[in-house]
Amino acid sequence: MTSPPDPRSLDLDALRSRLLSERGGTVDDSIPQLADADPDLCALALALPDGTVRTSAQADVPFSVQSAVKPFLFALALVDTDGEALDLVGIEPTGEAFDAIKLESGTGRPPNPMVNAGALLTASLVEGDGPEERSARIARGLSAFAGRDLLVDEQVAHNEHLLGDRNHALAHLMRAEGALQPSADDAVAVYARACATLVDAETLAVMGATLALGGVNPRTGERVVSARVARDVVSVMATCGVYDGSGRWMRAVGVPAKSSVSGAIVLSAPGRLGAAVVSPPLDDQGTSVRGRRASEMLSDDLQLHSFSV
Ligand code: GLU
Repeated sequence: MTSPPDPRSLDLDALRSRLLSERGGTVDDSIPQLADADPDLCALALALPDGTVRTSAQADVPFSVQSAVKPFLFALALVDTDGEALDLVGIEPTGEAFDAIKLESGTGRPPNPMVNAGALLTASLVEGDGPEERSARIARGLSAFAGRDLLVDEQVAHNEHLLGDRNHALAHLMRAEGALQPSADDAVAVYARACATLVDAETLAVMGATLALGGVNPRTGERVVSARVARDVVSVMATCGVYDGSGRWMRAVGVPAKSSVSGAIVLSAPGRLGAAVVSPPLDDQGTSVRGRRASEMLSDDLQLHSFSV
């Protein structure tokens, strides 16, 4: 058996130039800060087991992490509840949009931690006496995944809290079902703040690598979560990470990933690497058009597809 290609041999700037000629998709306009995103922002990064990170141009441009935070919220909830989060949120794909106002039939639980209902719940399961403490613990946890202190874009957090009507509706629905403990408003505030965390492609790749490499941050050497938690999270990224496009993603890219409305995608290829791609124009499922293309190319060039033999 031949060994897979060395990620160090890949020219990420050449790949980026090929991506820039792709023009499809529309930038999310749910809040002004996302609507103002540069449609030509395009960056890629790969974080490798030896702690090195390979980047293209613009891999240091900050953006709000949005739903790419969901795998990490799930991980922190699993740690802080000692695994009980697995009983409180489902793990089945929905085939529906990220913000569908729907809970699991029969149980009243959110369907999975990668859609908004699930992430509102997992964020509220993170330890903390009240929303400020919970947000502080989330910030510390996300920073450990990143290997550096992460900041929050206060304007984004404010607007998402204010304008996230569907998230408020989901939180109220979960309260009515007895699934959510904090007040609906506190739950939305904590989730909105997590989504407003600022990252860049380089940082997000390290976060993805920490999950891909069994919970140890390859840059700092810190064990952030157990190997079991990392495995559980990556499994759910594989089945639910790209919303109602998860099946198509798994066939074409074959790497567990999480998409987001800021146009970022975080990928965790177990045992191999973490990767991040960002480009704001999105397709109908809310996946970055160039990000998807980039992920297909990375998967092909580096033989990352989980089911390729
Ligand atoms: N903050 C966004 C929301 O809850 C995240 C959605 C996404 O990135 O897919 O509406």
